[in-house]
Amino acid sequence: MKPLTSLCVYCGSRKGKKSVYAKTAMALADEMVDRDIRLVYGGGGIGLMGTIAQRVADGGGEVVGIIPDFLQKIEKPFNGGTKKIVTDSMHERKQIMFDMSDAFLALPGGIGTLDEMFEMMTWRQLGQHKKPLALLNVNGYWDPFLYLLDHIVDHDFAGPDIRNNLVVESDIKCLLDRLGGARAPQKERQMSRAAAPSK
Ligand code: AMP
Repeated sequence: MKPLTSLCVYCGSRKGKKSVYAKTAMALADEMVDRDIRLVYGGGGIGLMGTIAQRVADGGGEVVGIIPDFLQKIEKPFNGGTKKIVTDSMHERKQIMFDMSDAFLALPGGIGTLDEMFEMMTWRQLGQHKKPLALLNVNGYWDPFLYLLDHIVDHDFAGPDIRNNLVVESDIKCLLDRLGGARAPQKERQMSRAAAPSK
């Protein structure tokens, strides 16, 4: 498997009802910084999107936010220590996010998160890519979605690959291990932390 160096994270433009979602976004950010994994995301500064981007940047990690021009007013781009790419359309945004990422992971989110994840799943189903797809199933948030996928397979509206190709974990370290994210040596981690701007 190709080593994971650039991960696209889809997640909510809201923080959700429970604090565990934001805590998980921060824990994922920390683990990505430890493993030198770049964050590719939708560029917003609100909700879980803003939480993870802020935390990766604060930890000295690399963040690339890709946002369509019309969304800049709504989703208040996060600018601190990140690279921002402004696109003309949602389609262009999704294509760039795809091109820049080795794998795709969904944290809890709403229909925007689902749309983005579904598109990567359908592209894979159509043989357009073989990049890993993952759900971080914190607090059982994605259980109903998994149930729906099983239902689709049970009723033979899709083959079992749509389910088998999805890496589902509630544990962040296990999930990143399964996606091919190597842990950076301890010394490098300390150096990247030391180089990070103080909060
Ligand atoms: P949500 O999960 O609904 O909070 O949306 C998360 C993010 O997905 C939003 O902030 C948008 O940047 C993005 N998004 C929303 N709708 C779509 C869509 N139809 N296609 C692609 N991305 C979307």
